[in-house]
Amino acid sequence: MNLEMETEPSDQLLQMDADQGEEPIPVIKDPPKIHRLDESVISRIAAGEVIQRPVSAVKELVENSLDANSTSINVVVKDGGLKLIQVSDDGHGIRYEDLPILCERHTTSKLSRFEDLQSIKSMGFRGEALASMTYVGHVTVTTITKAQLHGYRVSYRDGVMEHEPKACAAVKGTQIMIENLFYNMTARRKTLQNSADDYSKIVDLLSRFAVHYKNVGFSCRKHGAARADVHTVASSSRLDAIRSVYGASVAQNLMTIEASDSDPSSSVFCMEGFISNSNYFAKKITVLLFINDRLVECSALKRAIEIVYAATLPKASKPFIYMSIVLPPEHVDVNIHPTKREVSLLNQEVIIEKIQLAVELQLRNSNEMRTFQDQVIQPSQSGSAAVKKDSHSDPSSSSSKSQKVPVQMMVRTDSRVPAGRMHAYLQVKSSGQLESASALNSVRTFVRQRRNPKETADLTSIQELIDEIDQNCHSGLLDIVRYCTYVGMADDFFALLQYNTQLYLANVVNLSKELMYQQVLRRFAHFNAIQLSEPAPLQELIMLALKEEDLDPECNENDDLKEKIAEMNTQLLKEKAEMLEEYFCIHIDQQRNLSRLPVILDQYTPDMDRVPEFVLCLGNDVDWEDEKNCFQAISAALANFYAMHPPMLPNPSGDGLQFYKRKTDNEGNSSEKLEGKAAEEDEIEKELLAEADTAWAQREWSIQHVLFPSMRLFLKPPNSMATNGSFVQVASLEKLYKIFERC
Ligand code: ADP
Ligand code: MG
Repeated sequence: MNLEMETEPSDQLLQMDADQGEEPIPVIKDPPKIHRLDESVISRIAAGEVIQRPVSAVKELVENSLDANSTSINVVVKDGGLKLIQVSDDGHGIRYEDLPILCERHTTSKLSRFEDLQSIKSMGFRGEALASMTYVGHVTVTTITKAQLHGYRVSYRDGVMEHEPKACAAVKGTQIMIENLFYNMTARRKTLQNSADDYSKIVDLLSRFAVHYKNVGFSCRKHGAARADVHTVASSSRLDAIRSVYGASVAQNLMTIEASDSDPSSSVFCMEGFISNSNYFAKKITVLLFINDRLVECSALKRAIEIVYAATLPKASKPFIYMSIVLPPEHVDVNIHPTKREVSLLNQEVIIEKIQLAVELQLRNSNEMRTFQDQVIQPSQSGSAAVKKDSHSDPSSSSSKSQKVPVQMMVRTDSRVPAGRMHAYLQVKSSGQLESASALNSVRTFVRQRRNPKETADLTSIQELIDEIDQNCHSGLLDIVRYCTYVGMADDFFALLQYNTQLYLANVVNLSKELMYQQVLRRFAHFNAIQLSEPAPLQELIMLALKEEDLDPECNENDDLKEKIAEMNTQLLKEKAEMLEEYFCIHIDQQRNLSRLPVILDQYTPDMDRVPEFVLCLGNDVDWEDEKNCFQAISAALANFYAMHPPMLPNPSGDGLQFYKRKTDNEGNSSEKLEGKAAEEDEIEKELLAEADTAWAQREWSIQHVLFPSMRLFLKPPNSMATNGSFVQVASLEKLYKIFERC
C-alpha cells in the first residue's frame, strides 16, 4: 500500500513532540478522542490507493473502454500523465441520466449483488475508479450514446459534477480526460516527477492489452507527437498482434503453448499462448498474463517458468511469454487487490505445476526436433558433406531464419542437451532412440571439431567422465529425484522429500555437490560468467585458507612457509589461467586476482566465504598432468565450492541462536564497560544475526527453487548415494496410516 501522509498529519506529529518537550515529567494524558473522518478525506485516502500512479489511471480507463465494447481505444499522455491523460473510445457511451452520479464512489453499471462477483465478466465492478480520479485530478467526460443526436460534456471534482452537462458535438463513444493528476498530493507528485518513467509504463501496458485484445485497435502517443508509440489495428491473428507491438524479431521466435485440465478434483482451466524458443534473447523476462481476460501478475507462475527456462535453455533464459488462462469465473477471486492487479485462483498450485510441465515439455520437444533434423542430415555420421546439406539442400531447415542462427549458438544449444539428459527423450519417445542419442553425440562432436579443433581432444576425456556418470546412475534414486515433492528442510543438512507414499531424508550437501559436479562437466567450456564485484588477490585468498586450516591460528611460526606455499600456488594457477578461463570460466587477471567464476546453475551464486578454500584446493589438489584427472579434480573442486553447504554462521533458528547471544551476556557481566560501547556491540550482534538470517533464508530458497527443480531435470544420482546415507527412508505413509487406524 502506498498511502500518502499529507501535510496536516505530520504537522500534528510535530505539535506532539513540542508538547512533550515542555513537559519533561510524564503525566498520564487523556486518551485521544476518536472521531469520524470527513467523507472527502476518506475518499482521498482511498483514491490514493486505487490510483497509485498515472499508469494505474490509464489501466482503469482502458478497462472501462473495453467493458464498453469498444473496438478502438486511443490514449494521449502529456508529462508522463501528470499533466494530461486522455482516453477515447468508440464504445456504447454513458446515458445522460447517469452523468450526475457517474463519478460518485460506488456507482457502477456492472454489479448489483455481491453474488454477481462470482460470475463477473467485466473488468470493473467496484465503481471506484472514476470517483477516485476526481479526488486526485480534474476529470472531464465527453460521451454520446447511440440514441442521442449530440453528446454531452461535463467536468467533475471530488465526486460531483462541477456544472450541468453541456451539449456538444461528439463522435461515437466516450472520451475521458484527466488533468493535473495528484495536484493535491504534493509528495506523490514530486516523487513521480522525478521518476518520469510512467510514460514507458503506459506504453508497456497498452502493448499488453493490444496483444490480448487483438480485435481492438489501440494507439498511444505523447501529446503533440505525430507518431504513436503503440499502434495496432484489429487483427484476427494473435501472432500478428504480437508482431506489430513487439516486432518481427520476437514474433518469429515464438512457439505455441497449450495446457488444460478438466478434472474438478485437481483443477479446471484452459491455457493457450506463446513462449519464446532458444533463439530469443533478452535481458529481461517478459510475461503477458491474462486470466479470464484480465491483465494480471502472478509471481509464482513467472518464477515457475523462469526456472524451467534457466534449466533447459540457459542461454535463452529470459523468455517472452504470452499466456491466456481461462477458468470458470467462480474459481477466480478478482477482489483481492485494490487495483485488481492480482487475482487468486482455486487450485493455483496445481495449475501452475501443470503449466510449468507444459512449458518444460514444449522446450524439450523443440530441442528434440533439432535432434531429428540432425539425424536426417547425418545418416552416415560422417563428413562435412552432411553438414553442407543442412544449409543448402534441406529447404525446411534452411529458411532464412535458421541460417541466422550462428553456428556457435547451435553448438551451445547442443552442449546443453548433454548425454546425461537422454532419459528424458527416452521417456517421450518409443524405444530404439538410443541410437539416435549416439548419432546426436557424434554430430555434436563433429560440429565442435569443426569450430574449434582444440576442443575435440578435451572432449573425449569430458565425454568419458559424462559417460561414467550415466553408467553409474542408480535408477531407483533417479525416479525419486525426478518425481519427489520437496516438503521442507528437516535440519541443517537434510531435506524431507515425499515420493509416492514414502518419506525420505536427503542430504542436500551431497546432492547439490553431485549436481554441481555433473553440471560442470555438461557445461564444460560453455559457461556464463559471474563477475566478482571486487577482484580477489589469489595469494591472499590462499593465505587465508592456509590459516583457516591451521589448528592453532595464533602461532605465527609457519607464516613464512605459508607465504611460500601461497606464492607457489598462485604462480601455478597463473600459469594455468588460460585453461581455467577457457574451459571453466575461472578468470585470473594479470594482477593475479580472481575476477570471474562460472555460472553452474542459473539463479545461483556460491557462498563467497568459501572462495579461499576453493582456490587452495585448485592449487593443491589438482593433478595437472593427466587431462582426465585434471578436469575431474577441477570439476570436483568447483562442485565442493558451489555445493549448498550450511552457511558459516550458525543457524539462528535452532541452537545456533546462542552464538549470537553470547557476547550480549558478557557485556552484562562486565559492568564497568561504557554504556555506549555496550550498545554498539549489541548492535553488531544484531547485524550478524540479520546476516545469518539472510544467509539461511537464501539457502533455503535456493534449495527449494533452484536445487530441486534442477535436480529433477539434470541429476543422475550415482549408485553410491543409495548406501552412503545421502538418502534415508524415514517413513512409509501406508504404514503410518495403518498405525493411525489402530489408534
Ligand atoms: P466500474 O468500472 O468499477 O463500474 P468506474 O468508476 O470505472 O467503475 O466506472 C463507473 C461506470 O461508468 C461504469 O460502471 C460504466 O457504466 C461507466 N463508464 C466508465 N467509463 C466508461 C466508458 N469509457 N464507456 C462507457 N461507460 C463508461
Ligand atoms: Mg472501471
